[in-house]
Amino acid sequence: MVAPLAGWAAGPTAAETARAVRDAGLDLDQCYRVRDLSLYKDDIRLYFNDGYLIFSKPVAGERIAAVFTADVEGGDGEILLLPPQRAERQSLARFTGSPNLDEHFRTALLMFTDDSGRALLESIQKQGSRKAPEMGPLLAEQWAPVVSNILDSFAPRIAGELLNPRRADGLLLVALGGKKLGTFDVVYDPTAPEQILAGQLMERNQRVVYDVWTSFVARRYRAASAPPYDPPFSLNQFRIEATIDENLHLRAVTRAALKIGAQPLRSFAFDVSRAEQVTAARIDGVPAEVLIRESTRSRALRADENDVFLVTAPDFLTPGSVHQVEFEHQGTLITSPGNGVYSVDARSNWYPRSGSAFADYVLKFRYPRRLTLVTPGDIVADNIDGDWRITERHTPGPIRVAGFNLGDYQKSSASAGGLTVDVFGNRGLDPALQPPPTATTIARVVQEGPRTPRREVLTTVIQNVPPPDPLARLNTVAADVSACFQYFSGLFGPPALKALTVSPIPGTFGQGFPGLVYLSTLSYLDPRERPPATRSATLQTFFSDLMQAHEVAHQWWGNVVIGKSYQDEWLLEGLAHYSALLWLEKKKGPKALEEVMADFQADLLKTGADNQTVESAGPVTWGYRLEASKSPEAFRVITYEKGAWVLHMLRKRLGNERFLKVLAELRRQFQFRGVGTADLLELVKKSAPPGVTAESLEAFFDNWVYSTGIPTLRVRYSVKGKAPSWRVSGTVEQSAVDQNFSVDIPVEIQFAKGATQTVWVRTSNEPVSFSATLKQAPARVEIPAGASVLAARK
Ligand SMILES: [Zn+2]
Repeated sequence: MVAPLAGWAAGPTAAETARAVRDAGLDLDQCYRVRDLSLYKDDIRLYFNDGYLIFSKPVAGERIAAVFTADVEGGDGEILLLPPQRAERQSLARFTGSPNLDEHFRTALLMFTDDSGRALLESIQKQGSRKAPEMGPLLAEQWAPVVSNILDSFAPRIAGELLNPRRADGLLLVALGGKKLGTFDVVYDPTAPEQILAGQLMERNQRVVYDVWTSFVARRYRAASAPPYDPPFSLNQFRIEATIDENLHLRAVTRAALKIGAQPLRSFAFDVSRAEQVTAARIDGVPAEVLIRESTRSRALRADENDVFLVTAPDFLTPGSVHQVEFEHQGTLITSPGNGVYSVDARSNWYPRSGSAFADYVLKFRYPRRLTLVTPGDIVADNIDGDWRITERHTPGPIRVAGFNLGDYQKSSASAGGLTVDVFGNRGLDPALQPPPTATTIARVVQEGPRTPRREVLTTVIQNVPPPDPLARLNTVAADVSACFQYFSGLFGPPALKALTVSPIPGTFGQGFPGLVYLSTLSYLDPRERPPATRSATLQTFFSDLMQAHEVAHQWWGNVVIGKSYQDEWLLEGLAHYSALLWLEKKKGPKALEEVMADFQADLLKTGADNQTVESAGPVTWGYRLEASKSPEAFRVITYEKGAWVLHMLRKRLGNERFLKVLAELRRQFQFRGVGTADLLELVKKSAPPGVTAESLEAFFDNWVYSTGIPTLRVRYSVKGKAPSWRVSGTVEQSAVDQNFSVDIPVEIQFAKGATQTVWVRTSNEPVSFSATLKQAPARVEIPAGASVLAARK
């Protein structure tokens, strides 16, 4: 910590700067008739072949926008964008019909904080383009509202960049009116892990979605010599003091150590849940400006449910210095469906954060004493004050994020091998789980007397169904989670936090935070008392076994090892899912695992109205980009279920022992930092068994991970010879995938007695032959369904 800021030389405020950005307007004196003007930004090539270009007025000495219009005889503009990887070209083709973006446009609205404005003006000067004062007022009238609208959307972001010292590289956003493709965006954002993005705002199934056509690392950052990403600032040593009142309203003060990176800064962007308001911020005790403003458009470009807000200090903070930043925030993020059941609706961003760097936490909560509040860390103080309870916890080591939960709970604990598990369950039933009363209609035949006709009387009996016991599985869950926690520690090494708390959440989902798991209230019920819609064998296994093990596995995958970018989300979810399946296999045998894998395969092969499979929506590495796809299930099914399948196939290829060693190594090498999909490939290559080449593992990743396709396989074979020397020969034929698809497939030769023999065959566009010499006659030669490879059978 350093002394409070000296010399508050008041620069412009963020609000003033944002207002200046919004009000910039077009500069009538800076309108040009342009021909053959071009702008290159790494992979983005813009050609203003023939038309008019008008610039915005300057803000803080910088021009921040321009409009091009091809509104002349034969007027034209053109954009070229060539994604560097096959998967990205496939993605672009899926949305635009072509693997490269080459589109003529009539209009282009440019917004920039980089050198684009200067570069354009320089070219204009060099070419001697003439000014077109006659067009200025016309263009301004036509375009001013559009320009002000888009500048308004991005005002906090642009203001933040203008307030901080000029970086070598800035933002370039181009909204184009394409001749074929309609309105779309091309963005260059140096703060994103993938700097270049092209996409389109769309309405699909009555909701607004943002289709990401392609997203990739810009040329200058692809170079091997490119410096690694260095965040402009970081937060550590969180200290959160929160009060939850009788009405469940949360008010908190969050303090953290703010470390400035390599450049001086005065404006900082933070994320917070939309359910909250940040009412004040201070840096080293001195009030700082808070600016919040998010538009639908910039929200659509962001995949989460948080708002960005800017905190601006009056003056620059020097590189490398450390300060205390303090936020006052509040919101109604805890709701109750009734019956003493509570739900925390803003789980990961209930306090202001920036990124998900590991940090130490002090968490002090004041809450109604009738409730139990759970959050990670060791209890250092726990006091009752009238109707209130005040609990303070310190985390024993750095964690990625601090979650909390609260309720009227009963507890069941288990501990072994230095690990403790506390499972909390609601005493009251989640009202959504109360079954509706049943109505039974009974028909009785009555005959009142010998001379009256028989008649039928209908009686309807309404019966209340007894409510399920909300704690039926409390002890079962505690025992299972404890055993599972032990099992994973044995496989992946000790967890970061030795104490794990499991607590209920209404709904059908779970979530795994460091030291804290949210488990669906359904998982606490006896399977026979769950709602009828969840009584299929698949869903019973999910709520009874997989969900809690998946969330426990996140103690490692997602909380000790984190993903480098959205492209690696599948790896963490796939690992959590597959770890849960390893635990299921350990408890119930390989058949139980294979049944789930077969369910996953069926989900992936389900076809929609367009006759396309869910799996074809995109590769596992697309992460959030799958959410906008035509199939609403694609994100979940591909990220989790294909993710688990990829790991299952890797296990088959490497063998059980080597596969588990890869997982242990993954945790060891990437503990407390980000792992990428490419890192997994490198580890796998180092652990390959004899005979499995690096090239074949690369093909595995190219086809299963970075691309789409589930083949249909057909095996034909014949057997020749006699005891003790038999020869089996046959072919594997692949269909339903594109002609480049080529992977190693295990063909199993089974015998009446003795172990199965496996022959690996690399598929191709043509039928591929295989053969093997055997000591006994085979009983069957096949590729077993659902068990070893993601493929349909013919
Ligand atoms: Zn998960």
